[in-house]
Order: sequence, then C-alpha cells, then structure tokens
Amino acid sequence: MPTQLHYYPMKLTSLLAVCLMLPVAFAQESAAVRTIVQAEKQPLLDTLKELVSIESGTSDYDGVTRIGNLIADRLRALGGEIEKVPPATDYLQFQNTPERLADTIIARFRGKGTKRILLLAHMDTVYTKGMLAKQPFRIDGDRAYGLGIGDDKHGVATILHVLSALRNLRFDQYGVITVLISPDEEIGSNAERDLITSLASNHDLVLSYEGSRTPGDDIRLATTGAEVAVLAVKGRASHAGAAPEQGRNALYELSHQLLQMQDLSNPVRAVKLNWTVASAGSASNVIPEDARAMGDMRADDEADFAALEAAVREKIRNHLIPDTSVDVRFDRIYPAMAFRKQSLPVAEYARQIYAEYGGKLEVATKSPGGATDAGFAALKTDAPVLESMGLRIYGAHSNENEYVVMSSIEPRLYMSARLIMDFSLGKIAAR
Ligand SMILES: [Zn+2]
Repeated sequence: MPTQLHYYPMKLTSLLAVCLMLPVAFAQESAAVRTIVQAEKQPLLDTLKELVSIESGTSDYDGVTRIGNLIADRLRALGGEIEKVPPATDYLQFQNTPERLADTIIARFRGKGTKRILLLAHMDTVYTKGMLAKQPFRIDGDRAYGLGIGDDKHGVATILHVLSALRNLRFDQYGVITVLISPDEEIGSNAERDLITSLASNHDLVLSYEGSRTPGDDIRLATTGAEVAVLAVKGRASHAGAAPEQGRNALYELSHQLLQMQDLSNPVRAVKLNWTVASAGSASNVIPEDARAMGDMRADDEADFAALEAAVREKIRNHLIPDTSVDVRFDRIYPAMAFRKQSLPVAEYARQIYAEYGGKLEVATKSPGGATDAGFAALKTDAPVLESMGLRIYGAHSNENEYVVMSSIEPRLYMSARLIMDFSLGKIAAR
C-alpha cells in the first residue's frame, strides 16, 4: 500500500510539474515564504517592544544615537555592512531644527544578482523625553500600542524582519539591498535628504516603510510636498511723529504683499499657500524699516511648486510703496512625489501578492496627504518608489493612542519579502 500510494502521487506530481512548471514552483515558493514570515511575527513584536522602549525624539541626540546603535547591531547580525553617516554640515536650519542631529544608519546586503533595492524607514519620533511612561509597549487584542510604534518604529521592525525572512529563506538573488534609517524624518530629513536622493538614483526599486493608516490598507505611489516661503520687506526708518513722510513703511508694504497673495491656493490641484507668521518694526514711534512673513506651501507635484513659486515672484513685483524692496526665499521641507507610472506595475504586483495572503490592498495614485522621505527618494531617479510598505497603523503623533494592527504583520512581511524576491528575479517588469 505505501508503495502503490507512493508511486501515483510521484507520477502525478512530475506530470504536473511538466505541464504546469511555473505554478508548482510558484506554489512551493509562496508556501515557503508563508511559513517563514509566520515564524517572524512574534520576533517582530519583540523587536517593536525593544524599539518603543528607547525614546528617540528627533532633538534627543542621545536617544536617537542609542536606538541607531541598536538598529545597526541588528542589521550587522543579519549580514549587513554598516555605515554610520554623520549629518550633512550644510543642512537647512528651520525654527525647530535641533542643534545636534544623530547619524544616519546605512546597511548594505550584497547578493549574487544584479537588482539594487533601497529600503527606507526612520527612527526618530515627534515625542519629547519622558512621554514613554504614559505610553509603554502593551498589547490589547489585535493592537500593539507604544510611543512612536506607528511612526515609524514598525517601519524599522518590518525591514529587520523582512531581511531576517530572506536570510532564513537563503535568498540572495538581489544585487544589493541598501537600508537607510533616518534620524530626523519628523523635521524634514535635514541631515540626510541629499543622501537619500543620491542613493535612490543608483537603485532600481525604492520601498519606503511608513505605515498604512487604518481603517485603510494601502500603499501610496504619491506623497505631498511642503515648503516654507519667507518674505522679507526692506523700507526706510524715520521718526513716526516728526517725519513719517520721510520713511518707507515696510509693514504697510508687507500687508499689501500678503493681501495680494491670499488667493494663490488652488484646491483642485491640492495647491495651498497660507501666510502664517509675520513680524515688523522695533518701536512704536519708528516707521518700520523691516518686515518679514512666513507662508506654508503644499503641493502634490513639483511642477505645481514651481508654478506657485513663479506666481509669488510675479506678485511681489507689484509694490504699494515705491522705494521698498521685497524679496522671497523658498525653503524646501519635503518635495512632493507625484504619481510615477513606472511605480504602477510593481504596486499591482504587490496587490496580487497581498491577495495571496487574503489581503485587499488599495493602490493610492493620488497623495492622501502627508510628506515623507519618498519625496527625496523620487527626486532624481526613474526607479519605482512605493510608500506605506510598513504595517497598518493608527494614531501617529498622538500621545496615547498609537498602535499597529498585529494581524497585518504576516501579510505585510509576506508582501515585502515576495516583492523583493520577485523583483530581484526579474519577474516584475518595471523599467
Ligand atoms: Zn514617519
């Protein structure tokens, strides 16, 4: 009986293998990946607990350095070559830029193939030191709570365990997998924005591990950009009581400028300009010589930013008061990532893989809002860039209600692992 039973299935299997070579191989492969990622679920939760237990607000240099060292050790243990890159020295200073920024963590995993894949996440949070006590790691039903767990500690954990899964599968058919963990994403990635752009330009695929906001379940192919406009008006000081006519009132000119630029937003294209901060003058009896204002600009497309900047430059040529000068400067916080058609085949492939695990993935080709490092990655590369490759999350930037959906761990790990494998093997026609 054993012999006979053994004989037929063998024959049937070989026959199937000949007729349906690909599906059999495919089924075996996906089953193996499935088994491996299931085994990663609990270790990933352990990693999350470890990451959440280290406070790493962007301005907390010691905290971000500590978590960076831990992540570097973990990446090294997985076989990565580690590089700790100090912040660029000439980075933009915004009002909230800390005096000292921690190193960016980079790891390179070299394989036997040719494809180059870049994985992005960030280790800083928006929280200040001491807030961990109010939001320690805890599990409640399908939710794992913790400070910064949804933005973006799950992203770091997902990358670590995707790499662990690939290692356990003995998969090394990629050319190189580069991991970049940012120390200051929450304030605009000042320290390493150029590094992200240049790394992305020599990779074939970029996967960014921010979360997918529940109740949705998506990956994003577009992100919003943010800029600050700084307007500076120069007039002429004079005694406000004795000789006001000899002055050139910078405050009046600034007011004129702001009012004539109040209608530059374009809701249809998600273009926004709102003046939010202003200052002028030094004493009540002096006609003000200087006035300044800052405006918040948003757009989903670099061309829209360029058009908005041009509109502002055009408007400021029109002065209320002769002999005043008006200058404007634009500080980039985040570039927008407009939808790129080369990202779509990879996203569609991801949707199919996700469906194998019972997931229903939405592919967002329009930015649902939110600026991320994907914007810097997309600046100078033709490579597909996929955002929201992390877990399903809720409550980013909230003080005590931030969680990840635990049942998303396995399907999301599976999606990432399979995507990296199949992209490496050239199964996804992307470029
Ligand atoms: Zn984030």
